Amino acid sequence: MTAQLIDGNALARQVRAEVAARAAALTARGVKPGLAVILVGANPASQVYVRNKVKACGEVGFHSVLEQYDESFSEAELLARIAALNADPGIHGILVQLPLPRHIDDHKVIEAISPAKDVDGFHVASAGALMVGEQGFKACTPYGCMKMLESVGLKSLRGKHAVVIGRSNIVGKPMAMMLLAADATVTICHSGTPDLGAITRQADVVVAAVGKRNVLTAEMVKPGAVVIDVGMNRDDAGKLCGDVDFDGVKAVAGWITPVPGGVGPMTITMLLVNTLESAERA
Ligand code: NAP
Repeated sequence: MTAQLIDGNALARQVRAEVAARAAALTARGVKPGLAVILVGANPASQVYVRNKVKACGEVGFHSVLEQYDESFSEAELLARIAALNADPGIHGILVQLPLPRHIDDHKVIEAISPAKDVDGFHVASAGALMVGEQGFKACTPYGCMKMLESVGLKSLRGKHAVVIGRSNIVGKPMAMMLLAADATVTICHSGTPDLGAITRQADVVVAAVGKRNVLTAEMVKPGAVVIDVGMNRDDAGKLCGDVDFDGVKAVAGWITPVPGGVGPMTITMLLVNTLESAERA
């Protein structure tokens, strides 16, 4: 068997076209969706991410502001900027790019964002809403993974076993909660899981969110399973690759996401969806 590709770029284009149409309708009613992105410090990867987010906003007709501060910006100054943006009616989403410099407490900063503008979905109120099944912003990466499953006819996962590898607050845990909400039977694995393959071989859906190459290889996958690769790593030649041994696994899986061109484009897309929905509620 050769797996079919779940093309994140194509799906992202389709969802972004819908976002652009809804944004235009909202703008015509006098509300232009607005996203504020804050970057502190000069992390080169973060600079690329924030630029891509701002560019994506422009492409779907959103208003966006990029606030860049140097490494010495204090926690108090950052909290003051967040308070100002919380009160700004033209801003519907606030995103603080992580990681922050060491002298700033990430948790304190995320919790300072109004839950009504927490479009990254990292606030405790957003995580709690997901846990109890209330309305709230969903973390963008796992939300994008759910859209990818939906795109191959798996909106409901009733009767399916989903295995998530990784338990971070931004990917693994919210991913598991979203799969559970879609009625999957969910197993979460992590660095302390013995014999990972024995568990992943039972999975109809595997989501790998680890940050290590070749965490999932062909013999660990049930024939026909859906494999979603969240990981972003570099191979020996410096090329971007995921957590999954793509060439091996694609010979066994039913569906697979590539890296690049898989989950990555969907993450920014779901940030746009969250910002739009925030503006629609304003
Ligand atoms: P993280 O916070 O470092 O979490 C990694 C998780 O993997 C941890 O829960 C860890 O377990 C687990 N783990 C480590 N080694 C393992 C092993 N050998 N077997 C099983 N589990 C293992 O990373 P993250 O922020 O969730 O990100 C994960 C990956 O996704 C990274 O490559 C990141 O760059 C990528 N990412 C991509 C996007 C995108 O848009 N494409 C977005 C976000 C993240 P413990 O908890 O026991 O340490």
